[in-house]
Amino acid sequence: VPPSHIRNFCIIAHIDHGKSTLADQLLLATHSVAQRDMQAQYLDGMDLERERGITIKLCAARMRYRGAADGQQYALNLIDTPGHVDFAYEVSRSLAACEGCLLVVDASQGVEAQTLANVYLALESDLTIIPVLNKIDLPGADVERVRQEITDVVGLDASDALLVSAKQGIGIAEVLEAVVQRIPPPRDTRGDPLRALIFDSYYDPYKGVVAQFRVMDGELRRGDVVRFMNTRCEHPVAELGVLAPKAVEVESLHAGEVGYLAAAIKSVADARVGDTVTLKREPATEALPGYTEVKPMVFCGMFTIDADQYGGLREALTKLQLSDAALSFEPEVSSAMGFGFRCGFLGLLHLEIVQERLEREYGLDLITTAPTVVFRARTSDGAEHVVDCPSKLPPAATLSAVLEPYVRLEVITPKEYVGPILDLLQTRRGEHIEMQFMTEARTTVVYDMPLAEVVMDLFDALKSRSRGYASMEYSITGWRENDLVLLEVSINGERVEPLAAIVHRATAYNIGRALVKKLKEVIPRQQFRVPIQASIGARVLASEAIPALRKDVLAKCYGGDISRKKKLLQKQAKGKKRMKARGSLGKVDVPQDAFMAVLRIN
Ligand code: GDP
Ligand code: MG
Repeated sequence: VPPSHIRNFCIIAHIDHGKSTLADQLLLATHSVAQRDMQAQYLDGMDLERERGITIKLCAARMRYRGAADGQQYALNLIDTPGHVDFAYEVSRSLAACEGCLLVVDASQGVEAQTLANVYLALESDLTIIPVLNKIDLPGADVERVRQEITDVVGLDASDALLVSAKQGIGIAEVLEAVVQRIPPPRDTRGDPLRALIFDSYYDPYKGVVAQFRVMDGELRRGDVVRFMNTRCEHPVAELGVLAPKAVEVESLHAGEVGYLAAAIKSVADARVGDTVTLKREPATEALPGYTEVKPMVFCGMFTIDADQYGGLREALTKLQLSDAALSFEPEVSSAMGFGFRCGFLGLLHLEIVQERLEREYGLDLITTAPTVVFRARTSDGAEHVVDCPSKLPPAATLSAVLEPYVRLEVITPKEYVGPILDLLQTRRGEHIEMQFMTEARTTVVYDMPLAEVVMDLFDALKSRSRGYASMEYSITGWRENDLVLLEVSINGERVEPLAAIVHRATAYNIGRALVKKLKEVIPRQQFRVPIQASIGARVLASEAIPALRKDVLAKCYGGDISRKKKLLQKQAKGKKRMKARGSLGKVDVPQDAFMAVLRIN
């Protein structure tokens, strides 16, 4: 297909606004998937994804469009993007592979935070944006209001927005026609040296890494030896193909086309998202712009409840890493938890996805510690240390500065919740940047704040203060020095590393008190009295104690009925086993909740 008859586009939308449903309809309307083979949300391949309603895996689908008004045949490449900010870099790379996008907005809801964040990325990539108002079948749909929101807030002309019901298949033909008419074709640079942009790669146990790419310039043939310009790896292409949406092998792909290649590559670290593929024999001089190696920003400890599963956990993490270059892990030994791994993630959602896959696909029972962000510590000898675990913060006496990552946070909310939301953001060390009334009823609020405050379950706090109506999105903007200290917790006289946190000095006292109180609630009574303390260095901020339990249980059996006593104690032991995830801190058994306690304080 010549570039003039190709259109490359993606769909951007806030979660649940109908991206997957619309994609399904486009596949059906172009007969790329037969009705009988259609399972809802065809592109969302992974089970986990379907259950959680999020798109984890990027995917591309080529459709043949024969029904164009001009009588011509077109190849339409739909490139799926992950909707979530954790994967902002991957979103930006898949946008860079397109000339245009459909901006899907739920006509009964309106513009949300994710819509905006994604639109900014699309504008940065100079994409042609086609507004689509979806769910017009709903009685609550208010096309005019949402049209106005798009114009006012997003700054796009929405007068020619398409009116669609993806669910009922209304307006689908118009969407296809708009893709052909409004989105420009790729530039015809078939004669230039090969440059192809990788926008997704995953690991296949039989083929090795499968990289999906868009050819920006030149041509690629099966058997060519390709070079990955940033990782500098070279491999002969064993398989070349397009996803239509099932894999179809082809002999060659040229400028403007989208496809995949397999070349017996062992790990996605060699064929990373954002890298440029060129030919070994006739290499391009410059890689495509925008390549960055994504660095984990959020860390947590992962330990197996059963020590025998440690090897299994290592194996599972190694496998996951083959297809997830953003996941990092290294062995961690903790006096409290035994052997485990310190794992790094792009953000909270990424963490949750990995945790769930480890438990579900690999059958592991895990205890995870509360997520913390990565810090940078400067010491008086001039060195800078990356601190991915609070207890690794160098001693206070040697510190000259501690820096933490900052984000720009954007919240969209119905106006009646603005007050409580501003209060919340203020207590989270937020710095007010601006506030804008989108429409009569809704407001956007912009704050700069430490990522650490976002990681502390900000999303839940926001939802509960807005009855679920507020949406938020953030992007990392840089590093800032703050007066940060190490808050340590000891239980039963032993320091518990997994409970340590790096916090602002001004909030340390309140956090310490609340944490100790929370721990007292969630740690069940033991056979002995258990003191709990929070401290900074030698200074104790708060202390509590859990009274002993054993006396109480045994107090109920009068006299010396040994068998009855035994039964009671056995029952107690069974009860303990039943509580799913639990670790032990020193001699104290604690449930998984305890390790998350720091997230549950407010
Ligand atoms: P995504 O998160 O953007 O991929 O959204 P989905 O495509 O998964 O859709 C979210 C929910 O909205 C699903 O329950 C869909 O059935 C529903 N939905 C999608 N499009 C429409 C529509 O046009 N009308 C109605 N009433 N529901 C829709
Ligand atoms: Mg979806």
